[in-house]
Amino acid sequence: MADTALQAVRQRLRIAIQKNGRLAEPARALLSACGLAWREQRDQLFCQADDAPFDLLLVRDDDIPRLLADGHCELGIVGRNVLGEACALLREQGGEPAAVELRALGFGACRLALAVPDAQPWTGFAGLAGQRIATSHPALLRAWLGERGIDARVVTLSGSVEIAPRLGQAEAVCDLVSSGRTLAANRLVPVEDVLASEAVLAGAGQPLDAERGALLDGLLRRLDGVLRTRDRRLLVFRARRAALPGLLALMPDAEPPTVCPTEDGDSVSLQALWPGIVPWQRLEALERAGARGLMVLPVERMLA
Ligand code: ATP
Ligand code: ZN
Repeated sequence: MADTALQAVRQRLRIAIQKNGRLAEPARALLSACGLAWREQRDQLFCQADDAPFDLLLVRDDDIPRLLADGHCELGIVGRNVLGEACALLREQGGEPAAVELRALGFGACRLALAVPDAQPWTGFAGLAGQRIATSHPALLRAWLGERGIDARVVTLSGSVEIAPRLGQAEAVCDLVSSGRTLAANRLVPVEDVLASEAVLAGAGQPLDAERGALLDGLLRRLDGVLRTRDRRLLVFRARRAALPGLLALMPDAEPPTVCPTEDGDSVSLQALWPGIVPWQRLEALERAGARGLMVLPVERMLA
């Protein structure tokens, strides 16, 4: 009895996600799209998925790399910047990264950018020598400066990096930027990208045992299916065979379509996966070229 209970615990995979914040809602939506369902209660940091061998840890994003490294969870959804900073810190201490990026997830996009006050003309890397750069990603910045042989001083701040130049704490900043509005509001201009970031699925550096490995493979297969359908549409229409070459020429960005004969033998029905939104202009051009019964359908799930 005890053995069975233990085994049941061993066979579960634990996934850490951000409890609150920018990645919290899209990470939950992604896991739901992969077929996981769970009930959260306020202030609860741990919950089990309904009828599936997965547990969720609801934590601060900064804690996720350490939870992976210490074996408290097998998977985490976290910004590449947070994962990269933790790995860069470990590398500085002579260690091996204890967590690895398994998939880029396509949300939480931002960049870690070097920015300088707009009043200070940017003269290139050479101008950074001897300057102080404020950041909450010191290890990533040190690695980036080191690769370019720039001898600048890194000032580590845990937040409000963008006001450091005005407070006289630094001459430049290295901060996360998405729209650029916060930088502009603080009279800073981005001059170099240090890292392009988005949310990623991270896994522990160590290989999993066979049972958990199989659970991970199953989840990745669903995840890949979800990621592949994201932003895709299925375009469906009928046309005369003779019109096909002209129609196909209007669909260079679609995947090779499936063409099926219809009963009258002279017409075909055609379906093609389209990346992103199908613009009205393109639909109208297809119609002019002989497409009939045009439909654009959302794609919900796909298996390769
Ligand atoms: P926590 O309370 O979990 O520590 P946080 O305040 O550190 O939260 P958020 O601001 O929610 O974190 O950001 C989480 C992640 O969202 C970042 O690490 C980054 O990967 C991504 N992100 C996307 N756009 C931005 C942005 N403009 N500023 C900061 N982070 C961004
Ligand atoms: Zn955080």
